Amino acid sequence: TAVEQAYLARTPGSAALARQARAVLPSGVVHDSRWIRPHGLYASRASGAHKWDVDGHRYIDYFGGHGALLLGHGHPEVVEAATRQMALGTHFAAGHEAEVRWAETVCRLLPSAERVRFHSSGTEATQMAVRLARAHTGRGKLLRFQAHYHGWQDDMTAGYASHFDGTAPIGVPEAVAARTPALDPYDEAAVERRLAEDRDIAAVIVEPLGAATGKVPLAPDFLRALRRWTAENGVVLIFDEVITGFRVDPGGVQAAVGVTPDLTTLAKIVAGGLPGGAVAGRAEILEGLDFEASERKGREKIYHPGTFNACPVSAVAGTRALEIIERDGACARASALAADLRSRLNAVIAAEGLPWLVYGEASAFHLFLGDLQAAGGRAGFDPRRLGREGLQAQPPDLVRQLRLALNLEGVDIAGWPGGLVSAAHDEADLEETADAFAAAVGRLRE
Ligand code: PLP
Repeated sequence: TAVEQAYLARTPGSAALARQARAVLPSGVVHDSRWIRPHGLYASRASGAHKWDVDGHRYIDYFGGHGALLLGHGHPEVVEAATRQMALGTHFAAGHEAEVRWAETVCRLLPSAERVRFHSSGTEATQMAVRLARAHTGRGKLLRFQAHYHGWQDDMTAGYASHFDGTAPIGVPEAVAARTPALDPYDEAAVERRLAEDRDIAAVIVEPLGAATGKVPLAPDFLRALRRWTAENGVVLIFDEVITGFRVDPGGVQAAVGVTPDLTTLAKIVAGGLPGGAVAGRAEILEGLDFEASERKGREKIYHPGTFNACPVSAVAGTRALEIIERDGACARASALAADLRSRLNAVIAAEGLPWLVYGEASAFHLFLGDLQAAGGRAGFDPRRLGREGLQAQPPDLVRQLRLALNLEGVDIAGWPGGLVSAAHDEADLEETADAFAAAVGRLRE
């Protein structure tokens, strides 16, 4: 296509690296969602709301470090803290003051956090949350919701990525899939019934804004109902706030809607743009990791090592980022900018007479490029009604072409398709993005 030809002509440096990469990296990538035909961009640097590719082009960045960069790229205070720590030491194989301050900051900001345990990623955090819940309840199953993403480990891959029928994804044992029932979050009666009837459910894990940061949204009332049903049945409620934590509000979705889960999983923003994750929650549940408490109670302690848990560089970067977010009102700023961006993009869609829609909550935006008429029209559109398959059934080649066309116009979005706005974006970025979007649409029509 014309878009693909123009993209190839504009990105020879990325093309060369992609060719080289394919010889050593499967598909040339290191993360599934960075794969795109003919090849993804190779970046050389980033600053604030922008990043540059190896061919020297600047992009307004809405991929946002997969959600890690609420403050944008390279916030000077975060860089200063991390750089200073690099010189002091990157690993002490000992406790350090930075991890204590980091934990205190998380406990201060997040309503559910009485205790914290740090990890290297969100995947590890959700895995530990489930282990804590199993240890706490003595039960085996994890109940989750179709299309909600919680990392790539076995327990979390079952029920994701189109395996809504309960079959195991390739490489995951059937036994794991069997102990991880994935329910439709819109069939509330079935969720309530399952929780009341199945006495082997240790935990429920949920993306509190809905799948993909609200691409398939959930109502706060559903979270309240989940809180009630899990409490009634002795089930541990886990909010996966890996993206929403410190983004929707300094206290996460739980603070914004006033529903306190038993456990919360965190990553991305919590580590200030560096690798890191955490599980936080009720002291009584995290006590499973406590040596003295286990001794006292004559109970086996939950095993948890991890070479890079609370890496000092991540700890200082994370603490500084959380302090800045609180001090500067970064969540509110990013959310306001995103609302502005959503309406600017919808104005372009209306002006171009396209059957598309941009929607989302907080600092997220989602593009719906499917059949809007079938989905209720502009006025009647309810992304919940589409369900998880409906939203994933957007024409994949249209999504791909639009992303490439936006790249040609200097904008990078994520592939769901949508993006995350940071507090480092400004009005000029939004204006430029709307113009780029209109120009990209023009390119698709050529
Ligand atoms: N949970 C949610 C909601 C996520 O969005 C992600 C990552 O995108 C994860 C868990 C996994 O985190 P990580 O990629 O750090 O392993």
